[in-house]
Amino acid sequence: MAAEKTTTEGQTTGRSVLVTGGNRGIGRAIAEAFLANGDTVAITSRNGEGPAGALAVACDVTDSASVDAAFTQVEQAHGPVEVLVANAGITKDQLLLRMSEDDFTSVVDTNLTGSFRVVQRATKGMMRLKRGRIVLVSSVVGLLGSPGQVNYAASKSGLVGMARSITRELGARGITANVVAPGYIDTEMTQGLDEDLKKQYKKSIPAGRFAQPSEVADVVTWLTSDQAAYISGAVIPVDGGLGMGH
Ligand code: NDP
Repeated sequence: MAAEKTTTEGQTTGRSVLVTGGNRGIGRAIAEAFLANGDTVAITSRNGEGPAGALAVACDVTDSASVDAAFTQVEQAHGPVEVLVANAGITKDQLLLRMSEDDFTSVVDTNLTGSFRVVQRATKGMMRLKRGRIVLVSSVVGLLGSPGQVNYAASKSGLVGMARSITRELGARGITANVVAPGYIDTEMTQGLDEDLKKQYKKSIPAGRFAQPSEVADVVTWLTSDQAAYISGAVIPVDGGLGMGH
């Protein structure tokens, strides 16, 4: 079972935390940050290990039965999930005219419907507890748009409506739901980008650089802290100024 929850200077520790897509990249950094905070952390991915100290559970977010089984396993080990970070995501970039219907629906199924599946499953326990923190990992592209990413941008902007509707439905039950919108973060997802394209991107980012996954993780953990208890339905950019005005 999860460690006893304690509060030190406004920061609660010892919570049951689940991070989807926590075996690498941003999700792994988020899991590491929660572990450092003293929380009890489970990560999911289709197959992969998380950081040392986290329970790694196999889960495909496109499959409801797999999501249900993963939550049951985490609940048995750590108790009901109190903090959910829906981070698992994919890209299948293609210009609109060449994008197949499968390119579109598979990205939406993982990024948007996948988030719905885990959020719906998590909120059952959160409603019983009368508390919970949900963070949806979107992207600057969700509000800014991006050529070749009609599928990805649609999936990521959908998360904003999702978080705001959850906030309206469950805000009075001690549950917050927020969106974090990263810009360009140095992970496997962006490492494959063409070098010239990377230079072009960096020029358009006021900060002049890509970020490290830990810079997203710090914002996610803060959003679940006691200091952020009155923030819900918000979109927090972590993008070096790239998406200003959105
Ligand atoms: P990575 O490609 O490094 O990691 C993606 C994660 O999602 C992996 O853990 C992967 O696990 C998991 N995942 C993908 N599909 C599924 C699935 N069907 N079921 C379960 N897990 C799945 O990406 P990043 O760390 O870069 O991205 C993490 C999130 O941040 C994504 O939602 C992404 O859209 C978003 N983001 C990233 C940005 C960036 O610049 N890197 C910028 C803005 C947003 P596995 O494949 O092993 O199952």
